Amino acid sequence: MLDRRRLNVGKELQPCFYIATFGCQMNMRDSEVLSGLLNRAGFTLTNKPEKADIIIFNTCSVRQHAEDRVFSLIGEYKKRQKKKMPGTVPIIGLIGCMAKNYQDKIFNKAPDVDFVVGPSDIAKIPEIIERLLASKKKEPSLFQLKIWETDGEARPEEIYHTGFYEDKKHAYLVISEGCSNFCSYCVVPYVRGPLRHRHYKDILAEIEEAIDKGVSEITLLGQNVNAYQYEGVNFVGLVELVNSVKGLKEFGFMTSHPKDASSDLFKAISGLDKLKKSLHLPIQSGSDRILKLMNRGYSKRFYLDLVDNYRKIVGGGTLTTDIIIGFPSESEADFKETYNLVKDVGFNSAYIFKYSLRPHTEAVKMPDDVTKKEKEGRHALILELQRSISERKRC
Ligand code: SF4
Repeated sequence: MLDRRRLNVGKELQPCFYIATFGCQMNMRDSEVLSGLLNRAGFTLTNKPEKADIIIFNTCSVRQHAEDRVFSLIGEYKKRQKKKMPGTVPIIGLIGCMAKNYQDKIFNKAPDVDFVVGPSDIAKIPEIIERLLASKKKEPSLFQLKIWETDGEARPEEIYHTGFYEDKKHAYLVISEGCSNFCSYCVVPYVRGPLRHRHYKDILAEIEEAIDKGVSEITLLGQNVNAYQYEGVNFVGLVELVNSVKGLKEFGFMTSHPKDASSDLFKAISGLDKLKKSLHLPIQSGSDRILKLMNRGYSKRFYLDLVDNYRKIVGGGTLTTDIIIGFPSESEADFKETYNLVKDVGFNSAYIFKYSLRPHTEAVKMPDDVTKKEKEGRHALILELQRSISERKRC
Protein backbone atom coordinates (compact mmCIF):
# COMPACT_ATOMS: atom_id res chain seq x y z
CA MET A 1 0.00 0.00 0.00
CA LEU A 2 1.31 3.43 -0.85
CA ASP A 3 1.60 5.91 1.96
CA ARG A 4 -0.59 8.94 1.14
CA ARG A 5 2.29 11.24 1.95
CA ARG A 6 4.33 9.65 -0.82
CA LEU A 7 1.95 11.11 -3.35
CA ASN A 8 1.50 14.40 -1.57
CA VAL A 9 -2.26 13.77 -1.48
CA GLY A 10 -4.42 15.09 1.28
CA LYS A 11 -3.80 18.51 2.70
CA GLU A 12 -3.84 17.16 6.25
CA LEU A 13 -0.51 15.33 5.92
CA GLN A 14 2.35 17.37 4.48
CA PRO A 15 5.43 15.62 3.08
CA CYS A 16 8.22 15.46 5.61
CA PHE A 17 11.94 15.77 5.01
CA TYR A 18 15.12 14.60 6.71
CA ILE A 19 18.54 16.20 6.21
CA ALA A 20 21.79 14.30 6.83
CA THR A 21 24.57 16.87 7.20
CA PHE A 22 28.26 16.16 6.60
CA GLY A 23 31.31 18.38 6.97
CA CYS A 24 31.84 21.82 8.43
CA GLN A 25 29.76 24.44 10.24
CA MET A 26 29.00 26.08 6.88
CA ASN A 27 27.11 22.94 5.94
CA MET A 28 25.35 22.88 9.29
CA ARG A 29 24.14 26.40 8.67
CA ASP A 30 23.15 25.53 5.08
CA SER A 31 21.03 22.67 6.43
CA GLU A 32 19.27 25.11 8.75
CA VAL A 33 18.73 27.54 5.89
CA LEU A 34 17.24 24.74 3.80
CA SER A 35 15.05 23.56 6.68
CA GLY A 36 13.72 27.11 6.99
CA LEU A 37 13.00 27.31 3.24
CA LEU A 38 11.24 23.92 3.22
CA ASN A 39 9.21 24.77 6.34
CA ARG A 40 8.10 27.94 4.65
CA ALA A 41 7.03 25.91 1.61
CA GLY A 42 4.88 23.66 3.82
CA PHE A 43 7.17 20.66 4.38
CA THR A 44 7.81 19.26 7.84
CA LEU A 45 11.21 18.38 9.30
CA THR A 46 11.61 14.90 10.78
CA ASN A 47 14.55 13.34 12.59
CA LYS A 48 13.60 9.83 11.38
CA PRO A 49 15.08 9.13 7.94
CA GLU A 50 13.11 5.91 7.58
CA LYS A 51 9.86 7.87 7.78
CA ALA A 52 10.85 10.79 5.54
CA ASP A 53 9.27 11.44 2.15
CA ILE A 54 12.36 13.35 1.14
CA ILE A 55 15.88 12.52 2.29
CA ILE A 56 18.52 15.14 1.59
CA PHE A 57 22.28 14.57 1.92
CA ASN A 58 24.08 17.85 2.51
CA THR A 59 27.57 16.77 1.56
CA CYS A 60 31.24 17.59 1.99
CA SER A 61 34.02 17.07 -0.57
CA VAL A 62 36.99 18.04 1.55
CA ARG A 63 38.06 14.41 2.04
CA GLN A 64 37.43 11.25 0.03
CA HIS A 65 36.31 9.43 3.17
CA ALA A 66 33.34 11.83 3.65
CA GLU A 67 32.23 11.27 0.05
CA ASP A 68 32.46 7.46 0.34
CA ARG A 69 30.34 7.59 3.48
CA VAL A 70 27.56 9.48 1.65
CA PHE A 71 27.48 7.00 -1.24
CA SER A 72 27.15 4.08 1.15
CA LEU A 73 24.48 5.81 3.27
CA ILE A 74 22.22 6.58 0.29
CA GLY A 75 21.56 2.88 -0.30
CA GLU A 76 21.40 2.15 3.42
CA TYR A 77 18.68 4.76 4.13
CA LYS A 78 16.64 3.52 1.19
CA LYS A 79 16.85 -0.07 2.42
CA ARG A 80 15.89 0.98 5.94
CA GLN A 81 12.79 2.73 4.68
CA LYS A 82 11.79 -0.24 2.52
CA LYS A 83 11.92 -2.43 5.63
CA LYS A 84 10.10 -0.04 7.98
CA MET A 85 7.53 1.33 5.53
CA PRO A 86 7.03 -1.20 2.73
CA GLY A 87 5.68 0.29 -0.50
CA THR A 88 7.17 3.72 0.09
CA VAL A 89 10.12 5.18 -1.78
CA PRO A 90 11.67 8.44 -0.63
CA ILE A 91 12.78 11.20 -2.95
CA ILE A 92 16.52 11.47 -2.48
CA GLY A 93 18.48 14.68 -2.93
CA LEU A 94 22.20 15.30 -2.84
CA ILE A 95 23.28 18.87 -2.21
CA GLY A 96 26.39 20.78 -1.10
CA CYS A 97 29.99 20.38 -2.23
CA MET A 98 29.68 16.87 -3.73
CA ALA A 99 26.83 18.12 -5.92
CA LYS A 100 29.09 20.72 -7.47
CA ASN A 101 32.01 18.32 -7.58
CA TYR A 102 30.20 15.56 -9.51
CA GLN A 103 27.16 17.42 -10.95
CA ASP A 104 24.91 15.08 -13.04
CA LYS A 105 27.53 12.29 -12.84
CA ILE A 106 26.04 11.61 -9.38
CA PHE A 107 23.13 9.88 -11.11
CA ASN A 108 25.53 7.26 -12.54
CA LYS A 109 27.38 6.81 -9.26
CA ALA A 110 24.19 6.72 -7.17
CA PRO A 111 21.11 5.90 -9.31
CA ASP A 112 18.79 6.29 -6.28
CA VAL A 113 19.41 10.04 -6.22
CA ASP A 114 16.56 12.10 -7.74
CA PHE A 115 17.97 15.62 -7.50
CA VAL A 116 21.39 17.23 -7.28
CA VAL A 117 21.76 20.87 -6.19
CA GLY A 118 24.99 22.85 -5.76
CA PRO A 119 25.70 25.23 -2.85
CA SER A 120 24.73 28.37 -4.77
CA ASP A 121 21.39 26.93 -5.95
CA ILE A 122 19.99 26.04 -2.53
CA ALA A 123 17.05 28.49 -2.91
CA LYS A 124 15.67 26.39 -5.79
CA ILE A 125 15.23 23.21 -3.73
CA PRO A 126 11.59 23.68 -2.56
CA GLU A 127 10.45 24.16 -6.15
CA ILE A 128 12.52 21.19 -7.37
CA ILE A 129 10.93 18.96 -4.72
CA GLU A 130 7.44 20.17 -5.72
CA ARG A 131 8.20 19.22 -9.33
CA LEU A 132 9.45 15.80 -8.32
CA LEU A 133 6.45 15.16 -6.07
CA ALA A 134 4.05 16.21 -8.83
CA SER A 135 5.77 13.90 -11.31
CA LYS A 136 5.73 11.04 -8.82
CA LYS A 137 2.06 11.58 -8.07
CA LYS A 138 1.24 11.37 -11.78
CA GLU A 139 3.15 8.18 -12.48
CA PRO A 140 4.34 6.59 -9.23
CA SER A 141 5.46 3.33 -10.84
CA LEU A 142 7.29 5.01 -13.72
CA PHE A 143 8.78 7.82 -11.65
CA GLN A 144 12.25 8.54 -12.94
CA LEU A 145 12.58 12.29 -13.26
CA LYS A 146 16.10 13.50 -12.43
CA ILE A 147 16.81 17.17 -11.77
CA TRP A 148 20.14 18.90 -11.24
CA GLU A 149 21.03 22.54 -10.68
CA THR A 150 24.68 23.21 -10.05
CA ASP A 151 25.65 26.28 -12.06
CA GLY A 152 24.33 29.09 -9.83
CA GLU A 153 26.82 31.79 -8.90
CA ALA A 154 25.17 33.65 -6.04
CA ARG A 155 22.60 32.97 -3.35
CA PRO A 156 19.73 35.38 -2.79
CA GLU A 157 20.12 37.23 0.53
CA GLU A 158 16.55 36.26 1.58
CA ILE A 159 17.54 32.65 2.22
CA TYR A 160 19.35 33.69 5.38
CA HIS A 161 16.21 35.18 6.88
CA THR A 162 13.87 32.21 7.39
CA GLY A 163 14.39 32.40 11.15
CA PHE A 164 15.20 28.68 11.48
CA TYR A 165 17.93 27.84 14.02
CA GLU A 166 18.39 24.33 15.44
CA ASP A 167 19.86 25.55 18.68
CA LYS A 168 17.76 27.83 20.87
CA LYS A 169 20.73 29.74 22.28
CA HIS A 170 23.46 29.64 19.65
CA ALA A 171 23.40 30.43 15.92
CA TYR A 172 25.92 30.07 13.09
CA LEU A 173 25.90 33.07 10.81
CA VAL A 174 27.47 33.16 7.36
CA ILE A 175 29.36 36.39 6.63
CA SER A 176 31.03 35.32 3.39
CA GLU A 177 30.75 32.48 0.92
CA GLY A 178 33.38 30.72 -1.20
CA CYS A 179 37.13 31.19 -1.19
CA SER A 180 39.68 32.59 -3.62
CA ASN A 181 42.84 31.35 -1.94
CA PHE A 182 43.35 28.17 -3.97
CA CYS A 183 45.41 26.28 -1.41
CA SER A 184 46.73 23.49 -3.60
CA TYR A 185 45.03 20.64 -1.67
CA CYS A 186 41.62 22.25 -1.27
CA VAL A 187 38.50 21.73 -3.35
CA VAL A 188 36.52 24.60 -1.75
CA PRO A 189 37.26 27.32 -4.39
CA TYR A 190 36.05 24.89 -7.08
CA VAL A 191 32.87 23.77 -5.36
CA ARG A 192 31.90 26.91 -3.43
CA GLY A 193 33.10 29.51 -5.94
CA PRO A 194 35.11 32.70 -5.37
CA LEU A 195 34.99 34.67 -2.13
CA ARG A 196 31.83 36.84 -1.84
CA HIS A 197 30.84 38.90 1.18
CA ARG A 198 27.38 39.64 2.54
CA HIS A 199 26.51 43.26 3.24
CA TYR A 200 27.29 44.06 6.88
CA LYS A 201 23.80 45.55 7.25
CA ASP A 202 22.26 42.19 6.22
CA ILE A 203 24.54 40.38 8.68
CA LEU A 204 23.50 42.72 11.51
CA ALA A 205 19.84 42.35 10.56
CA GLU A 206 20.15 38.55 10.70
CA ILE A 207 21.80 38.76 14.13
CA GLU A 208 18.93 40.91 15.40
CA GLU A 209 16.39 38.44 13.98
CA ALA A 210 18.20 35.58 15.74
CA ILE A 211 18.21 37.52 19.03
CA ASP A 212 14.45 38.08 18.67
CA LYS A 213 14.14 34.29 18.51
CA GLY A 214 16.02 33.88 21.80
CA VAL A 215 19.57 33.34 20.49
CA SER A 216 22.25 35.03 22.59
CA GLU A 217 25.50 33.55 21.19
CA ILE A 218 26.65 33.48 17.58
CA THR A 219 29.57 32.23 15.51
CA LEU A 220 30.42 34.20 12.37
CA LEU A 221 31.31 31.83 9.55
CA GLY A 222 33.38 32.04 6.41
CA GLN A 223 36.20 30.06 4.77
CA ASN A 224 38.45 33.05 5.41
CA VAL A 225 36.67 35.49 7.69
CA ASN A 226 39.68 37.82 8.06
CA ALA A 227 39.39 38.78 4.40
CA TYR A 228 35.91 40.25 4.99
CA GLN A 229 35.45 43.55 3.17
CA TYR A 230 32.21 45.31 2.28
CA GLU A 231 31.91 49.01 1.37
CA GLY A 232 34.87 50.04 3.49
CA VAL A 233 34.03 47.78 6.46
CA ASN A 234 36.71 45.15 7.04
CA PHE A 235 36.59 42.22 9.46
CA VAL A 236 37.73 44.27 12.45
CA GLY A 237 35.06 46.86 11.60
CA LEU A 238 32.48 44.09 11.35
CA VAL A 239 33.29 42.54 14.74
CA GLU A 240 33.07 46.03 16.30
CA LEU A 241 29.61 46.44 14.81
CA VAL A 242 28.54 42.97 15.95
CA ASN A 243 29.85 43.65 19.47
CA SER A 244 27.47 46.60 19.74
CA VAL A 245 24.30 44.61 18.90
CA LYS A 246 21.91 44.79 21.86
CA GLY A 247 20.90 41.46 23.37
CA LEU A 248 23.94 39.59 22.06
CA LYS A 249 25.92 38.06 24.93
CA GLU A 250 28.88 36.37 23.21
CA PHE A 251 30.26 35.69 19.74
CA GLY A 252 33.18 34.09 17.96
CA PHE A 253 34.30 33.43 14.39
CA MET A 254 35.90 30.86 12.14
CA THR A 255 37.98 30.24 10.09
CA SER A 256 40.96 32.61 10.01
CA HIS A 257 43.75 32.48 7.46
CA PRO A 258 47.19 33.37 8.88
CA LYS A 259 48.06 35.58 5.91
CA ASP A 260 45.05 37.84 6.69
CA ALA A 261 45.26 37.83 10.50
CA SER A 262 46.66 41.02 12.04
CA SER A 263 47.48 42.79 15.30
CA ASP A 264 44.34 44.88 14.78
CA LEU A 265 42.27 41.71 14.91
CA PHE A 266 44.07 40.55 18.07
CA LYS A 267 43.43 43.96 19.68
CA ALA A 268 39.74 43.58 18.81
CA ILE A 269 39.68 40.10 20.39
CA SER A 270 41.31 41.53 23.48
CA GLY A 271 39.24 44.69 23.69
CA LEU A 272 35.69 43.77 22.67
CA ASP A 273 33.77 42.52 25.69
CA LYS A 274 31.49 40.07 23.82
CA LEU A 275 34.12 38.56 21.50
CA LYS A 276 35.48 35.20 22.65
CA LYS A 277 39.16 35.15 23.56
CA SER A 278 40.01 32.37 21.16
CA LEU A 279 41.51 31.96 17.72
CA HIS A 280 41.44 29.07 15.26
CA LEU A 281 44.49 29.58 13.05
CA PRO A 282 45.21 26.67 10.68
CA ILE A 283 48.97 26.09 10.20
CA GLN A 284 48.63 22.92 8.02
CA SER A 285 52.39 22.17 8.04
CA GLY A 286 55.52 23.24 9.93
CA SER A 287 57.73 22.85 6.86
CA ASP A 288 58.31 25.92 4.66
CA ARG A 289 58.84 23.70 1.65
CA ILE A 290 55.45 22.01 2.14
CA LEU A 291 53.71 25.31 2.96
CA LYS A 292 54.95 26.64 -0.37
CA LEU A 293 53.69 23.56 -2.23
CA MET A 294 50.37 24.00 -0.43
CA ASN A 295 50.23 27.63 -1.68
CA ARG A 296 49.44 28.85 1.81
CA GLY A 297 51.09 32.25 1.37
CA TYR A 298 53.07 32.35 4.66
CA SER A 299 56.17 30.83 6.20
CA LYS A 300 56.68 29.05 9.51
CA ARG A 301 58.45 32.16 10.88
CA PHE A 302 55.52 34.40 9.89
CA TYR A 303 53.10 32.02 11.63
CA LEU A 304 55.19 31.83 14.81
CA ASP A 305 55.45 35.64 14.96
CA LEU A 306 51.66 35.86 14.62
CA VAL A 307 51.23 33.43 17.50
CA ASP A 308 53.63 35.45 19.68
CA ASN A 309 51.75 38.60 18.86
CA TYR A 310 48.36 37.00 19.56
CA ARG A 311 49.51 35.71 22.93
CA LYS A 312 51.04 39.05 23.90
CA ILE A 313 47.91 40.99 22.97
CA VAL A 314 45.23 38.48 24.04
CA GLY A 315 46.59 37.28 27.37
CA GLY A 316 45.14 33.84 28.16
CA GLY A 317 43.47 33.53 24.75
CA THR A 318 43.12 29.97 23.44
CA LEU A 319 44.67 28.86 20.17
CA THR A 320 43.63 25.94 17.96
CA THR A 321 44.76 24.78 14.53
CA ASP A 322 44.39 22.39 11.56
CA ILE A 323 47.21 20.15 10.32
CA ILE A 324 47.53 17.98 7.22
CA ILE A 325 49.81 14.94 7.46
CA GLY A 326 51.30 13.25 4.39
CA PHE A 327 50.97 16.00 1.77
CA PRO A 328 52.73 14.90 -1.49
CA SER A 329 56.49 14.64 -1.05
CA GLU A 330 56.37 15.20 2.76
CA SER A 331 59.64 13.69 4.04
CA GLU A 332 60.48 12.56 7.57
CA ALA A 333 62.35 15.86 7.99
CA ASP A 334 59.26 17.89 6.88
CA PHE A 335 57.10 15.92 9.29
CA LYS A 336 59.60 16.49 12.11
CA GLU A 337 59.25 20.25 11.54
CA THR A 338 55.48 19.99 11.92
CA TYR A 339 55.89 17.80 14.99
CA ASN A 340 58.32 20.25 16.61
CA LEU A 341 56.11 23.22 15.78
CA VAL A 342 53.15 21.54 17.49
CA LYS A 343 55.36 20.87 20.52
CA ASP A 344 56.71 24.44 20.61
CA VAL A 345 53.45 26.31 20.05
CA GLY A 346 51.32 24.24 22.44
CA PHE A 347 47.91 24.50 20.79
CA ASN A 348 44.87 24.02 23.00
CA SER A 349 43.58 21.58 20.39
CA ALA A 350 44.17 20.64 16.78
CA TYR A 351 42.28 18.93 13.96
CA ILE A 352 44.81 16.58 12.40
CA PHE A 353 43.98 15.05 9.02
CA LYS A 354 45.68 12.65 6.67
CA TYR A 355 46.11 14.14 3.20
CA SER A 356 43.39 13.07 0.79
CA LEU A 357 43.74 13.67 -2.93
CA ARG A 358 40.94 15.93 -4.23
CA PRO A 359 39.79 16.41 -7.83
CA HIS A 360 40.29 19.79 -9.59
CA THR A 361 43.06 20.83 -7.20
CA GLU A 362 46.69 21.61 -8.07
CA ALA A 363 47.95 18.95 -5.66
CA VAL A 364 46.25 16.28 -7.73
CA LYS A 365 49.03 16.81 -10.27
CA MET A 366 51.63 15.87 -7.63
CA PRO A 367 52.29 12.18 -6.90
CA ASP A 368 50.51 11.05 -3.72
CA ASP A 369 53.78 9.43 -2.68
CA VAL A 370 53.60 9.28 1.11
CA THR A 371 52.50 5.72 1.78
CA LYS A 372 49.37 4.88 3.76
CA LYS A 373 51.57 3.33 6.45
CA GLU A 374 53.71 6.47 6.71
CA LYS A 375 50.63 8.71 6.85
CA GLU A 376 49.10 6.57 9.57
CA GLY A 377 52.31 6.41 11.59
CA ARG A 378 52.88 10.19 11.46
CA HIS A 379 49.21 10.87 12.14
CA ALA A 380 49.28 8.67 15.26
CA LEU A 381 52.49 10.32 16.54
CA ILE A 382 51.23 13.87 16.21
CA LEU A 383 47.79 12.97 17.53
CA GLU A 384 49.37 11.52 20.66
CA LEU A 385 51.58 14.60 21.09
CA GLN A 386 48.60 16.95 20.74
CA ARG A 387 46.50 14.81 23.07
CA SER A 388 49.08 15.18 25.85
CA ILE A 389 49.42 18.95 25.22
CA SER A 390 45.64 19.44 25.26
CA GLU A 391 45.38 17.50 28.49
CA ARG A 392 48.13 19.58 30.12
CA LYS A 393 46.46 22.81 28.97
CA ARG A 394 43.11 21.75 30.44
CA CYS A 395 44.60 21.29 33.94
S1 SF4 B 1 41.75 29.12 2.68
FE1 SF4 B 1 42.63 27.40 1.55
S2 SF4 B 1 42.02 25.63 2.80
FE2 SF4 B 1 40.69 27.31 3.42
S3 SF4 B 1 38.87 27.10 2.14
FE3 SF4 B 1 40.24 28.53 1.09
S4 SF4 B 1 41.40 27.27 -0.32
FE4 SF4 B 1 40.48 25.89 1.17
